[in-house]
Amino acid sequence: MKALVYHKPKHVSVDTIPDPIIQDSRDAIIRVTATAICGSDLHIYNGLIPDKQKFVIGHEFMGVVEETGTDVSNIKRGDRVVVPFPISCGQCYFCQQQHLHTQCENSNPEFYGPEGDITKGKGGGLFGYTSLYGGYDGGQAEYVRVPYADFGPRKVPDSLTDDQVLFLTDIFPTGYSSIDWANLQGGETVVVFGCGPVGIMAQKSAWLKGAERVIGVDIQPYRLEKARRAANVETINAAEQDVAEVVRSMTEGRGADVCVDAVGMEADRDILDKALGTLGGQAGTAEVLENAFNTVRRGGTVTVVGVYASNYNQFPFGKIFDKAITLKAGQAPVQRYIDQLLEHVKNGDVVLDDIITHRLPLSEAEHGYKIFNEKKDDCLKVVLQP
Ligand code: NAD
Ligand code: ZN
Ligand code: ZN
Repeated sequence: MKALVYHKPKHVSVDTIPDPIIQDSRDAIIRVTATAICGSDLHIYNGLIPDKQKFVIGHEFMGVVEETGTDVSNIKRGDRVVVPFPISCGQCYFCQQQHLHTQCENSNPEFYGPEGDITKGKGGGLFGYTSLYGGYDGGQAEYVRVPYADFGPRKVPDSLTDDQVLFLTDIFPTGYSSIDWANLQGGETVVVFGCGPVGIMAQKSAWLKGAERVIGVDIQPYRLEKARRAANVETINAAEQDVAEVVRSMTEGRGADVCVDAVGMEADRDILDKALGTLGGQAGTAEVLENAFNTVRRGGTVTVVGVYASNYNQFPFGKIFDKAITLKAGQAPVQRYIDQLLEHVKNGDVVLDDIITHRLPLSEAEHGYKIFNEKKDDCLKVVLQP
C-alpha cells in the first residue's frame, strides 16, 4: 500500500510498504477514506518529537472496515467509522475508572510509566506518533491497523460526509476538552491562544458551553480572519498588540476567566530565542503559556492542549501561585467526548468542515506538510484522500 512515511526531520515521503495485517483478536484493518494533517504532526516533521525509526505518520483518519479480529463484534466489514487518535484498551484503571484514555496502561508497553519524563515513562499509545508512544503506524495511508477496535472506532451515519465527521477523531474533541476542563458556568470571557485548527475548534466549543465572549489570538492575519468567520470570535493579533493589556481593557482590568493554550511549543520566535532554547535543552518555547498566565484573571483557569515536550526555564510558578490559577493540560481523551460530539454534529449545533482549506490526494502529502508548516497559500487544514 501507499503511506506517508517519516524518515527524518523535514523528510517525509509517500512510499510503498506492506499492507497491515490483523495481529490481535481485538484488531481491525481500516481502509482509509480521509485523513488530515495535524499541528502535532508538525512537531514530528520539525524534529521536536524525534524518532530514529521510520513509521507511518497520521492520527486523524476515518474509513471503511476491511477486516476484524475474532473478538471485534461492534463493527463489521463495510462499516464506515471514525477512529479516536489515542490507542486505549478500554479496560485498565485509566480507561475505565478515570476516563483518561490517553493514559491507558496497556497500549504502550515499552515506554509507558508514571514518570512523564522527556524520554522515560510516557503516556498511552497514539497512532503515528513515534516509538515513545507505542511505535504504531498511523493513518496517512491506504490502510491502517486499529488495535482495540472493539473500543475505539465509532460508526458514522451515511448522511454525513467524511469532511463533516473527520475532525471527531482529534481536533474537535481536543478543542472541546480545553473548554470542558475549565468548567464554564455560563457568561465567561474565554481567550483562545491559537487560531489554527485546534484553536478554532476550542472557540466553537466555548460557544457550545455557554461562554459570553470568545476572543481568538494568533499572529497570522489570515488565520485571525478565518477565526472571525468560522467561529464568530473577536480577535487580537499577538504580533501587534500586548494580549494581556488588551484583554484587561476589555474586562474591567481583571483579565479573562479562562485562557486556552492551543499553540504549544512551536510558537513563533526569533533566532536568538531559538538559540537560547536549544542551548538550554528546551523543545520549542513556553512563551504562549506564559502569555496565558498573564492574560487570565486572578482565580481563573488556564487549560493547555498545545503540546509541550520538555522542561522550560523561567517557568512562572510564582505568578501561578500569586494569582491562584487553576491549570489543566494534556492530550485529549477523545473516547470520553466523541459520542456526545457526534450528536452535536448530527443535530447541526456545530459545523466542523469550514476550516478545510486544502483537499489533496495522499500522493501530494509532502506538499501538504510544506504549506501547512510554512503557512503558505492561506493553508489552515489539509485533508488527504488515499
Ligand atoms: P497549528 O500549528 O496550525 O496552530 C498553531 C497556531 O498558533 C498557528 O495558527 C500559529 O500562527 C499560532 N501561533 C504561533 N505563535 C503564536 C503566538 N506567539 N501567539 C499566538 N499564536 C501563535 O496547529 P493545530 O493543529 O491548531 O494544533 C495546535 C496545537 O495543539 C499543537 O501544539 C498540536 O500539537 C496540539 N494538539 C494537541 C492535541 C491534544 O490532544 N492535546 C490534539 C491535537 C493537537
Ligand atoms: Zn492531532
Ligand atoms: Zn487502557
